[in-house]
Amino acid sequence: MRVARTYSIVDGAPITSGDLLRNNQDRPMPHDPTTWIATELAELDAQGLRRTLCERQLGQGAVIRVDGHELVNFGSNDYLGLASHQCHAAVCTAIDSVGWGAGASPLVVGRGSEHAALERELADFEGTEAALLFSSGYAANVGAIAALAGRSDAVFSDAKNHASIIDGARLSKAATVVYRHNDLEDLERVLCENRGAGRVLVVTESVFSMDGDLAPLADISKACRLHGAWLMVDEAHGAGVFGKRGAGLVQELGLEGEVQVHMGTLGKAVGSAGGYLAADRRWIDLLLNSARSFIYSTAPPPAQAAASLRGLEIIASQRGATLRDRLWRNINNFGELSSQEPVSAIVSVMVGQNEPAVQAAEALLQAGFLAPAIRFPTVPRGTARLRITLSAAHETGQIEELHRELRKLAIVN
Ligand SMILES: *Cc1c(COP(=O)(O)O)cnc(C)c1O
Repeated sequence: MRVARTYSIVDGAPITSGDLLRNNQDRPMPHDPTTWIATELAELDAQGLRRTLCERQLGQGAVIRVDGHELVNFGSNDYLGLASHQCHAAVCTAIDSVGWGAGASPLVVGRGSEHAALERELADFEGTEAALLFSSGYAANVGAIAALAGRSDAVFSDAKNHASIIDGARLSKAATVVYRHNDLEDLERVLCENRGAGRVLVVTESVFSMDGDLAPLADISKACRLHGAWLMVDEAHGAGVFGKRGAGLVQELGLEGEVQVHMGTLGKAVGSAGGYLAADRRWIDLLLNSARSFIYSTAPPPAQAAASLRGLEIIASQRGATLRDRLWRNINNFGELSSQEPVSAIVSVMVGQNEPAVQAAEALLQAGFLAPAIRFPTVPRGTARLRITLSAAHETGQIEELHRELRKLAIVN
């Protein structure tokens, strides 16, 4: 019988199943998993960094039930309240015609009419020639960055960029240069120092996911043009919130022509699931040939694409504009109550240490509000905070009550 050849991860030499057997007999397991896992978890406990899962039993939108408690939800990224939108018809039509699963990766036979229609709508939404659908925003970032930059290239990444951008840069094997958060001078400096590198890709979020502040996109795009760098913007928290048709901060600032790769998620304001890249046709042609998280992953269910399309249509319509107005009324209302200048739907209430942040979130839970404590490694050590996200679905009274509870805890004005 022929033995299939596999390759050792360490040195690339072929190994056979015989080698594997011998190795198992020769070497005892280097670590006792039980002890190791217990030690790791105890360490997380000691630092106040252990995460546990909760279970949402009811609802999307302003009021949900979690682990048996009814809570006003200030923890989701469903900025327009669309996660519970009426997309039954779109979903049922897709299921009736093609069933649930996509069955294969998009390049094989997984891409159906629903995916194609969504990609056309995404391109229209972003004002680009084409778009490419991924199974998540995480997959879109990882796939795009690793496809566009290689060993002899450089990726310039804001210090507060999302984990999926960091992971994409790591996978790319490009030299990754982290510039100080929203610091244009630092970006200019590192771009100058790296003159002579191969391709140069600058990646930033438009609205930063944990602080809610905005990237100076007009200046960043100018710097990119000056230094011949490509610009990729992650609009995960900008789409639905900014822009006259809700495409995001790039649209709000009229910078569509300055951004080579637009990235977004369908899991936040669109109220569905999935991720996307939008760009000129030839960029998308290249990406669909090289983004591994696109190529080697089953296409999302067609009905998911249909629901996403419905969410996008709503965002770009008059109803979307009305929901954005309502969202901004809520954002400004919370800003006035807490005497903070609001810039996005994300409000970061800084606490500092892990334990007090977790205790504050726990006290809010007891009072009927969900506002998650965010800790290292999601944010830097010593900057644990409550991350409050506002939505068009919130009532004025709910926002006022949340503010009252936060004042009781003495963590806002
Ligand atoms: C949530 C998020 C992503 C990932 O999107 P998913 O669709 O949830 O995988 C990427 N970038 C940023 C900034 C995010 O906040």
